[in-house]
Amino acid sequence: MSGCSLAAALRQHGWDGSIVLLESGRGPGGRAATRRSRHDPGLGINHGAPLFNITAAAAAGLQYPLLRALQADNWIQPFDGAICSLDDAGQVGPLDPTDGFTQGALWQGRGGMDRLGAGLLELAGRQPGSTQLRSGTLVRRLVPTQPGGPGAWQLQGADGSTLLNSRWLVLSGTLLAHPRCRSMLGWDGVPLQQAAAALGDRQLDQAAAALASIDSTASSNLLLVLPPELTPLWLEQPWRLLQCTAMAQQRWGLRRVSLQPQADGRWAVVAESSNAFAERHRHVYGSRSSAAQLLGAPSDPSGEAAVLDALDQALQEALGLPTAGAERQLMRWGAAFPQAPGLPTTLQLCPHSRIGFCGDYVTSDGFGRIEGAITSATALAAQLLPLL
Ligand SMILES: Cc1cc2nc3c(=O)[nH]c(=O)nc-3n(C[C@H](O)[C@H](O)[C@H](O)COP(=O)(O)OP(=O)(O)OC[C@H]3O[C@@H](n4cnc5c(N)ncnc54)[C@H](O)[C@@H]3O)c2cc1C
Repeated sequence: MSGCSLAAALRQHGWDGSIVLLESGRGPGGRAATRRSRHDPGLGINHGAPLFNITAAAAAGLQYPLLRALQADNWIQPFDGAICSLDDAGQVGPLDPTDGFTQGALWQGRGGMDRLGAGLLELAGRQPGSTQLRSGTLVRRLVPTQPGGPGAWQLQGADGSTLLNSRWLVLSGTLLAHPRCRSMLGWDGVPLQQAAAALGDRQLDQAAAALASIDSTASSNLLLVLPPELTPLWLEQPWRLLQCTAMAQQRWGLRRVSLQPQADGRWAVVAESSNAFAERHRHVYGSRSSAAQLLGAPSDPSGEAAVLDALDQALQEALGLPTAGAERQLMRWGAAFPQAPGLPTTLQLCPHSRIGFCGDYVTSDGFGRIEGAITSATALAAQLLPLL
Protein backbone atom coordinates (compact mmCIF):
# COMPACT_ATOMS: atom_id res chain seq x y z
CA MET A 1 0.00 0.00 0.00
CA SER A 2 2.71 2.47 0.91
CA GLY A 3 4.85 1.71 -2.15
CA CYS A 4 1.85 2.01 -4.47
CA SER A 5 0.70 5.16 -2.66
CA LEU A 6 4.12 6.74 -3.06
CA ALA A 7 4.13 6.03 -6.81
CA ALA A 8 0.61 7.47 -7.19
CA ALA A 9 1.40 10.53 -5.04
CA LEU A 10 4.58 11.37 -7.01
CA ARG A 11 2.62 11.13 -10.25
CA GLN A 12 -0.28 13.19 -8.88
CA HIS A 13 2.26 15.96 -8.30
CA GLY A 14 3.47 15.67 -11.87
CA TRP A 15 6.81 13.91 -11.36
CA ASP A 16 7.51 12.00 -14.58
CA GLY A 17 10.75 10.13 -13.84
CA SER A 18 10.96 6.35 -13.85
CA ILE A 19 9.48 4.43 -10.90
CA VAL A 20 10.14 0.71 -10.34
CA LEU A 21 8.46 -1.23 -7.54
CA LEU A 22 10.24 -4.44 -6.63
CA GLU A 23 7.85 -6.79 -4.85
CA SER A 24 8.60 -10.26 -3.59
CA GLY A 25 4.91 -11.26 -3.63
CA ARG A 26 2.78 -12.26 -6.61
CA GLY A 27 1.17 -8.83 -6.95
CA PRO A 28 0.63 -5.57 -5.14
CA GLY A 29 -0.95 -5.40 -1.69
CA GLY A 30 1.45 -6.84 0.89
CA ARG A 31 -0.45 -7.20 4.14
CA ALA A 32 -3.51 -5.74 2.39
CA ALA A 33 -3.48 -8.32 -0.41
CA THR A 34 -6.05 -10.83 -1.59
CA ARG A 35 -5.21 -14.51 -2.03
CA ARG A 36 -6.25 -15.60 -5.51
CA SER A 37 -5.81 -18.89 -7.32
CA ARG A 38 -5.31 -19.59 -11.01
CA HIS A 39 -7.15 -22.89 -10.53
CA ASP A 40 -10.13 -21.31 -8.78
CA PRO A 41 -10.80 -17.89 -10.35
CA GLY A 42 -13.99 -17.32 -8.30
CA LEU A 43 -11.97 -17.10 -5.12
CA GLY A 44 -10.32 -14.00 -3.65
CA ILE A 45 -9.71 -14.08 0.10
CA ASN A 46 -8.41 -11.06 1.97
CA HIS A 47 -5.87 -12.93 4.04
CA GLY A 48 -4.45 -9.82 5.73
CA ALA A 49 -6.49 -6.67 6.26
CA PRO A 50 -10.20 -7.21 5.45
CA LEU A 51 -11.02 -3.47 5.57
CA PHE A 52 -9.45 -0.13 6.46
CA ASN A 53 -10.50 2.84 8.53
CA ILE A 54 -9.79 6.51 8.17
CA THR A 55 -9.64 8.33 11.47
CA ALA A 56 -7.99 11.64 10.55
CA ALA A 57 -10.10 14.76 10.99
CA ALA A 58 -12.51 15.34 8.07
CA ALA A 59 -15.89 13.82 8.82
CA ALA A 60 -16.46 12.62 5.25
CA GLY A 61 -13.48 10.34 5.74
CA LEU A 62 -11.94 10.69 2.31
CA GLN A 63 -9.93 13.86 2.65
CA TYR A 64 -6.89 12.10 1.20
CA PRO A 65 -6.64 12.91 -2.52
CA LEU A 66 -5.41 9.40 -3.36
CA LEU A 67 -8.43 7.79 -1.73
CA ARG A 68 -10.81 10.25 -3.36
CA ALA A 69 -9.33 9.26 -6.73
CA LEU A 70 -9.71 5.55 -5.89
CA GLN A 71 -13.32 6.09 -4.88
CA ALA A 72 -14.10 8.11 -8.03
CA ASP A 73 -12.84 5.21 -10.16
CA ASN A 74 -14.69 2.57 -8.12
CA TRP A 75 -11.62 0.82 -6.73
CA ILE A 76 -12.91 1.18 -3.16
CA GLN A 77 -16.30 1.25 -1.47
CA PRO A 78 -17.62 1.80 2.05
CA PHE A 79 -17.43 -1.30 4.26
CA ASP A 80 -21.07 -2.04 4.96
CA GLY A 81 -20.97 -5.31 6.94
CA ALA A 82 -22.11 -5.35 10.55
CA ILE A 83 -19.29 -5.45 13.12
CA CYS A 84 -19.81 -7.05 16.53
CA SER A 85 -17.70 -8.27 19.42
CA LEU A 86 -17.31 -11.75 20.89
CA ASP A 87 -16.71 -12.23 24.61
CA ASP A 88 -15.11 -15.13 26.47
CA ALA A 89 -18.50 -16.74 27.08
CA GLY A 90 -19.03 -16.92 23.32
CA GLN A 91 -21.64 -14.13 23.43
CA VAL A 92 -21.92 -11.78 20.47
CA GLY A 93 -22.44 -8.15 21.48
CA PRO A 94 -21.87 -4.56 20.38
CA LEU A 95 -18.42 -3.49 19.25
CA ASP A 96 -16.05 -1.77 21.68
CA PRO A 97 -16.09 1.87 20.46
CA THR A 98 -12.40 2.27 21.34
CA ASP A 99 -11.25 -0.46 18.91
CA GLY A 100 -8.55 1.20 16.77
CA PHE A 101 -9.37 -0.71 13.58
CA THR A 102 -13.03 0.25 13.40
CA GLN A 103 -13.09 3.89 14.41
CA GLY A 104 -13.80 6.56 11.80
CA ALA A 105 -14.93 5.85 8.25
CA LEU A 106 -14.72 2.21 7.15
CA TRP A 107 -13.67 1.23 3.62
CA GLN A 108 -12.74 -1.82 1.61
CA GLY A 109 -11.45 -2.66 -1.86
CA ARG A 110 -14.27 -3.30 -4.34
CA GLY A 111 -13.81 -6.97 -5.23
CA GLY A 112 -10.92 -7.53 -2.81
CA MET A 113 -8.46 -5.52 -0.76
CA ASP A 114 -5.84 -5.97 -3.48
CA ARG A 115 -7.87 -3.51 -5.57
CA LEU A 116 -6.40 -0.65 -3.52
CA GLY A 117 -2.86 -1.40 -4.61
CA ALA A 118 -3.95 -2.19 -8.17
CA GLY A 119 -5.96 1.05 -8.30
CA LEU A 120 -3.08 3.16 -7.03
CA LEU A 121 -0.76 1.68 -9.65
CA GLU A 122 -3.37 2.32 -12.33
CA LEU A 123 -3.63 5.96 -11.20
CA ALA A 124 0.17 6.26 -11.31
CA GLY A 125 0.39 4.55 -14.71
CA ARG A 126 -2.09 6.99 -16.26
CA GLN A 127 0.34 9.87 -15.80
CA PRO A 128 3.46 10.53 -17.89
CA GLY A 129 6.54 8.54 -16.83
CA SER A 130 7.26 4.83 -16.65
CA THR A 131 5.72 3.04 -13.62
CA GLN A 132 6.70 -0.60 -13.40
CA LEU A 133 5.78 -3.30 -10.89
CA ARG A 134 8.16 -6.26 -10.85
CA SER A 135 6.39 -8.95 -8.85
CA GLY A 136 8.06 -12.13 -7.62
CA THR A 137 11.30 -10.19 -7.13
CA LEU A 138 13.01 -10.47 -3.78
CA VAL A 139 15.59 -7.79 -3.01
CA ARG A 140 18.40 -9.38 -1.00
CA ARG A 141 21.14 -6.75 -0.88
CA LEU A 142 21.30 -2.95 -0.94
CA VAL A 143 24.60 -1.73 -2.33
CA PRO A 144 25.40 1.99 -2.17
CA THR A 145 27.32 2.82 -5.34
CA GLN A 146 27.97 6.53 -5.85
CA PRO A 147 26.60 8.45 -2.88
CA GLY A 148 25.40 11.79 -4.21
CA GLY A 149 26.10 10.67 -7.79
CA PRO A 150 23.73 9.68 -10.59
CA GLY A 151 23.46 6.01 -9.58
CA ALA A 152 23.20 5.97 -5.82
CA TRP A 153 21.94 2.41 -5.24
CA GLN A 154 22.29 -1.01 -6.71
CA LEU A 155 19.70 -3.58 -5.66
CA GLN A 156 20.70 -7.22 -5.85
CA GLY A 157 18.73 -10.45 -5.85
CA ALA A 158 19.36 -13.60 -3.82
CA ASP A 159 21.75 -14.93 -6.50
CA GLY A 160 23.81 -11.74 -6.44
CA SER A 161 22.42 -10.54 -9.80
CA THR A 162 21.71 -6.84 -10.27
CA LEU A 163 18.00 -6.17 -10.18
CA LEU A 164 18.14 -2.41 -10.54
CA ASN A 165 20.38 0.63 -10.41
CA SER A 166 18.54 3.65 -9.10
CA ARG A 167 19.13 7.27 -8.20
CA TRP A 168 16.90 7.07 -5.15
CA LEU A 169 15.76 4.19 -2.97
CA VAL A 170 12.64 3.99 -0.83
CA LEU A 171 12.05 1.06 1.51
CA SER A 172 8.33 0.49 1.91
CA GLY A 173 8.73 -2.64 4.04
CA THR A 174 10.98 -3.36 7.02
CA LEU A 175 12.33 -6.82 6.09
CA LEU A 176 15.61 -5.41 4.72
CA ALA A 177 16.06 -3.26 7.80
CA HIS A 178 15.15 -5.63 10.60
CA PRO A 179 17.05 -8.45 12.33
CA ARG A 180 14.07 -10.79 11.75
CA CYS A 181 15.52 -11.39 8.26
CA ARG A 182 18.39 -13.19 10.00
CA SER A 183 16.29 -15.41 12.24
CA MET A 184 13.57 -16.01 9.65
CA LEU A 185 15.65 -16.41 6.50
CA GLY A 186 19.11 -17.14 7.84
CA TRP A 187 20.65 -14.05 6.19
CA ASP A 188 24.16 -13.17 7.31
CA GLY A 189 23.31 -9.58 8.21
CA VAL A 190 20.68 -6.87 7.96
CA PRO A 191 21.01 -5.37 4.46
CA LEU A 192 20.21 -1.78 5.47
CA GLN A 193 22.71 -1.88 8.34
CA GLN A 194 25.37 -3.30 6.02
CA ALA A 195 24.71 -0.47 3.55
CA ALA A 196 24.68 2.17 6.30
CA ALA A 197 28.06 0.95 7.59
CA ALA A 198 29.53 1.72 4.18
CA LEU A 199 28.00 5.19 3.95
CA GLY A 200 28.85 6.94 7.23
CA ASP A 201 25.65 9.03 7.21
CA ARG A 202 24.61 9.74 10.82
CA GLN A 203 20.98 10.29 9.92
CA LEU A 204 20.85 6.94 8.10
CA ASP A 205 22.57 5.22 11.05
CA GLN A 206 19.83 6.58 13.31
CA ALA A 207 17.09 5.49 10.91
CA ALA A 208 18.61 2.01 10.60
CA ALA A 209 18.80 1.70 14.41
CA ALA A 210 15.20 2.87 14.85
CA LEU A 211 13.94 0.45 12.17
CA ALA A 212 15.86 -2.47 13.66
CA SER A 213 14.29 -1.90 17.06
CA ILE A 214 10.66 -1.94 15.92
CA ASP A 215 8.79 -4.83 17.51
CA SER A 216 5.84 -6.37 15.71
CA THR A 217 3.08 -8.70 16.78
CA ALA A 218 2.27 -11.73 14.65
CA SER A 219 -0.92 -13.30 13.34
CA SER A 220 -1.61 -16.85 12.19
CA ASN A 221 -4.70 -16.78 10.02
CA LEU A 222 -7.01 -19.67 9.20
CA LEU A 223 -8.67 -19.31 5.80
CA LEU A 224 -11.81 -21.37 5.20
CA VAL A 225 -13.95 -21.67 2.10
CA LEU A 226 -17.37 -22.75 3.33
CA PRO A 227 -19.16 -25.62 1.58
CA PRO A 228 -22.65 -24.67 0.28
CA GLU A 229 -24.47 -26.70 2.97
CA LEU A 230 -22.83 -24.75 5.82
CA THR A 231 -23.06 -21.29 4.29
CA PRO A 232 -26.67 -20.47 5.38
CA LEU A 233 -25.80 -21.26 9.00
CA TRP A 234 -22.88 -18.84 8.96
CA LEU A 235 -24.84 -16.15 7.12
CA GLU A 236 -27.50 -16.21 9.84
CA GLN A 237 -24.93 -14.57 12.10
CA PRO A 238 -25.62 -10.88 12.77
CA TRP A 239 -22.01 -9.92 11.92
CA ARG A 240 -19.63 -9.91 8.98
CA LEU A 241 -16.67 -8.88 11.16
CA LEU A 242 -16.28 -10.10 14.72
CA GLN A 243 -13.76 -8.53 17.08
CA CYS A 244 -12.80 -10.71 20.08
CA THR A 245 -12.51 -9.03 23.48
CA ALA A 246 -9.19 -9.34 25.33
CA MET A 247 -10.63 -12.14 27.49
CA ALA A 248 -12.00 -13.93 24.44
CA GLN A 249 -8.58 -13.67 22.78
CA GLN A 250 -7.05 -15.31 25.83
CA ARG A 251 -9.62 -18.08 25.88
CA TRP A 252 -9.89 -18.91 22.19
CA GLY A 253 -6.60 -17.65 20.78
CA LEU A 254 -8.58 -15.69 18.17
CA ARG A 255 -8.43 -11.92 17.63
CA ARG A 256 -10.91 -11.32 14.84
CA VAL A 257 -13.09 -13.27 12.40
CA SER A 258 -14.39 -12.02 9.06
CA LEU A 259 -16.98 -13.46 6.73
CA GLN A 260 -16.09 -12.59 3.15
CA PRO A 261 -18.34 -12.93 0.07
CA GLN A 262 -16.64 -14.44 -3.01
CA ALA A 263 -17.24 -13.44 -6.64
CA ASP A 264 -18.99 -16.74 -7.44
CA GLY A 265 -21.42 -16.73 -4.49
CA ARG A 266 -19.31 -18.78 -2.08
CA TRP A 267 -18.26 -17.38 1.31
CA ALA A 268 -14.90 -17.47 2.99
CA VAL A 269 -14.09 -17.15 6.68
CA VAL A 270 -10.82 -15.72 7.91
CA ALA A 271 -10.00 -16.30 11.57
CA GLU A 272 -7.08 -14.13 12.70
CA SER A 273 -5.22 -15.49 15.71
CA SER A 274 -4.19 -13.62 18.81
CA ASN A 275 -0.55 -12.60 19.02
CA ALA A 276 -0.03 -15.12 21.85
CA PHE A 277 -1.29 -17.96 19.63
CA ALA A 278 0.94 -16.85 16.73
CA GLU A 279 3.95 -16.67 19.05
CA ARG A 280 3.33 -20.19 20.31
CA HIS A 281 3.41 -21.38 16.69
CA ARG A 282 6.07 -18.99 15.43
CA HIS A 283 7.91 -21.55 13.24
CA VAL A 284 4.85 -22.65 11.26
CA TYR A 285 4.42 -20.42 8.20
CA GLY A 286 1.97 -22.28 5.98
CA SER A 287 3.19 -23.81 2.75
CA ARG A 288 1.41 -21.18 0.64
CA SER A 289 2.72 -18.18 2.56
CA SER A 290 5.14 -15.85 0.82
CA ALA A 291 7.71 -16.66 3.52
CA ALA A 292 7.71 -20.27 2.33
CA GLN A 293 7.15 -19.77 -1.39
CA LEU A 294 9.31 -16.79 -2.20
CA LEU A 295 11.61 -16.17 0.70
CA GLY A 296 12.60 -19.82 1.08
CA ALA A 297 11.62 -20.12 4.75
CA PRO A 298 11.20 -23.82 5.58
CA SER A 299 7.62 -25.08 5.86
CA ASP A 300 6.54 -27.94 8.10
CA PRO A 301 3.45 -29.86 6.87
CA SER A 302 2.69 -31.63 10.16
CA GLY A 303 3.12 -28.40 12.15
CA GLU A 304 0.87 -26.67 9.65
CA ALA A 305 -1.86 -29.30 10.05
CA ALA A 306 -1.67 -28.95 13.84
CA VAL A 307 -2.02 -25.14 13.69
CA LEU A 308 -4.92 -25.45 11.25
CA ASP A 309 -6.63 -27.94 13.57
CA ALA A 310 -6.10 -25.74 16.62
CA LEU A 311 -7.51 -22.62 14.96
CA ASP A 312 -10.38 -24.55 13.41
CA GLN A 313 -11.28 -26.11 16.76
CA ALA A 314 -11.12 -22.73 18.53
CA LEU A 315 -13.35 -21.17 15.90
CA GLN A 316 -15.98 -23.90 16.20
CA GLU A 317 -15.97 -23.71 19.99
CA ALA A 318 -16.04 -19.93 20.17
CA LEU A 319 -18.87 -19.51 17.68
CA GLY A 320 -20.71 -22.77 18.08
CA LEU A 321 -20.67 -23.15 14.30
CA PRO A 322 -19.51 -26.16 12.25
CA THR A 323 -16.68 -26.02 9.69
CA ALA A 324 -16.71 -29.65 8.46
CA GLY A 325 -16.00 -29.93 4.74
CA ALA A 326 -14.53 -26.41 4.44
CA GLU A 327 -11.31 -26.00 2.41
CA ARG A 328 -8.57 -24.84 4.80
CA GLN A 329 -5.40 -22.82 4.36
CA LEU A 330 -2.98 -21.16 6.73
CA MET A 331 -1.41 -17.74 6.38
CA ARG A 332 1.12 -16.57 8.94
CA TRP A 333 2.13 -12.94 9.18
CA GLY A 334 5.36 -12.84 11.19
CA ALA A 335 5.32 -9.04 11.38
CA ALA A 336 1.60 -8.28 11.17
CA PHE A 337 1.35 -5.16 13.32
CA PRO A 338 4.32 -2.89 14.15
CA GLN A 339 4.41 -1.67 17.73
CA ALA A 340 4.89 1.99 18.67
CA PRO A 341 6.91 4.17 18.59
CA GLY A 342 8.05 3.20 15.06
CA LEU A 343 10.29 5.31 12.81
CA PRO A 344 10.18 9.03 13.68
CA THR A 345 9.07 11.20 10.75
CA THR A 346 12.31 13.20 11.08
CA LEU A 347 14.19 10.09 9.87
CA GLN A 348 11.85 9.31 6.96
CA LEU A 349 14.17 10.88 4.43
CA CYS A 350 17.99 10.73 4.45
CA PRO A 351 18.89 13.00 1.55
CA HIS A 352 22.66 12.50 1.78
CA SER A 353 22.27 8.79 1.13
CA ARG A 354 19.30 9.25 -1.17
CA ILE A 355 17.11 6.88 0.73
CA GLY A 356 13.62 7.25 2.14
CA PHE A 357 11.20 5.15 4.15
CA CYS A 358 7.44 4.82 4.07
CA GLY A 359 4.98 2.34 5.50
CA ASP A 360 2.67 1.79 8.42
CA TYR A 361 5.75 1.62 10.68
CA VAL A 362 6.37 5.38 10.40
CA THR A 363 5.12 7.28 13.46
CA SER A 364 1.99 9.03 12.23
CA ASP A 365 -1.80 9.10 12.41
CA GLY A 366 -2.77 5.66 11.29
CA PHE A 367 0.35 3.94 12.65
CA GLY A 368 0.13 0.17 12.10
CA ARG A 369 -2.80 0.54 9.71
CA ILE A 370 -3.46 1.14 6.03
CA GLU A 371 -4.15 4.78 6.79
CA GLY A 372 -0.60 5.10 8.11
CA ALA A 373 0.84 3.40 5.03
CA ILE A 374 -0.92 5.99 2.84
CA THR A 375 -0.16 9.07 4.96
CA SER A 376 3.51 8.14 5.37
CA ALA A 377 3.83 7.74 1.59
CA THR A 378 2.16 11.05 0.77
CA ALA A 379 4.33 12.81 3.37
CA LEU A 380 7.47 11.27 1.88
CA ALA A 381 6.40 12.23 -1.66
CA ALA A 382 6.10 15.86 -0.55
CA GLN A 383 9.63 15.77 0.92
CA LEU A 384 11.12 13.99 -2.08
CA LEU A 385 9.60 16.09 -4.87
CA PRO A 386 11.92 19.11 -4.55
CA LEU A 387 14.95 16.79 -4.53
CA LEU A 388 14.16 14.54 -7.49
C1 LIG B 1 -3.93 -10.08 9.55
C2 LIG B 1 -3.87 -8.60 9.36
C3 LIG B 1 -5.02 -7.83 9.53
C4 LIG B 1 -4.97 -6.46 9.35
N1 LIG B 1 -6.11 -5.72 9.51
C5 LIG B 1 -6.08 -4.40 9.26
C6 LIG B 1 -7.28 -3.62 9.31
O1 LIG B 1 -8.36 -4.13 9.60
N2 LIG B 1 -7.19 -2.30 9.02
C7 LIG B 1 -6.01 -1.70 8.69
O2 LIG B 1 -5.99 -0.49 8.43
N3 LIG B 1 -4.87 -2.41 8.64
C8 LIG B 1 -4.89 -3.73 8.93
N4 LIG B 1 -3.73 -4.45 8.87
C9 LIG B 1 -2.48 -3.73 8.66
C10 LIG B 1 -2.32 -3.35 7.20
O3 LIG B 1 -2.42 -4.51 6.41
C11 LIG B 1 -0.97 -2.68 7.04
O4 LIG B 1 -0.91 -1.55 7.89
C12 LIG B 1 -0.68 -2.18 5.63
O5 LIG B 1 -1.06 -3.12 4.67
C13 LIG B 1 0.80 -1.86 5.56
O6 LIG B 1 1.18 -1.52 4.26
P1 LIG B 1 2.71 -1.21 3.98
O7 LIG B 1 2.84 -0.82 2.56
O8 LIG B 1 3.22 -0.28 5.00
O9 LIG B 1 3.49 -2.58 4.28
P2 LIG B 1 3.37 -4.03 3.63
O10 LIG B 1 1.96 -4.35 3.31
O11 LIG B 1 4.09 -4.94 4.56
O12 LIG B 1 4.17 -3.90 2.28
C14 LIG B 1 5.54 -4.12 2.17
C15 LIG B 1 5.76 -4.86 0.87
O13 LIG B 1 7.15 -4.99 0.63
C16 LIG B 1 7.40 -6.28 0.13
N5 LIG B 1 8.77 -6.59 0.51
C17 LIG B 1 9.31 -6.60 1.76
N6 LIG B 1 10.60 -6.93 1.70
C18 LIG B 1 10.91 -7.11 0.40
C19 LIG B 1 12.09 -7.47 -0.29
N7 LIG B 1 13.25 -7.67 0.37
N8 LIG B 1 12.05 -7.57 -1.64
C20 LIG B 1 10.90 -7.34 -2.32
N9 LIG B 1 9.73 -7.02 -1.71
C21 LIG B 1 9.74 -6.91 -0.37
C22 LIG B 1 6.39 -7.17 0.83
O14 LIG B 1 6.14 -8.35 0.10
C23 LIG B 1 5.18 -6.27 0.89
O15 LIG B 1 4.33 -6.42 -0.22
C24 LIG B 1 -3.75 -5.82 9.01
C25 LIG B 1 -2.60 -6.60 8.82
C26 LIG B 1 -2.66 -7.97 9.00
C27 LIG B 1 -1.42 -8.79 8.79
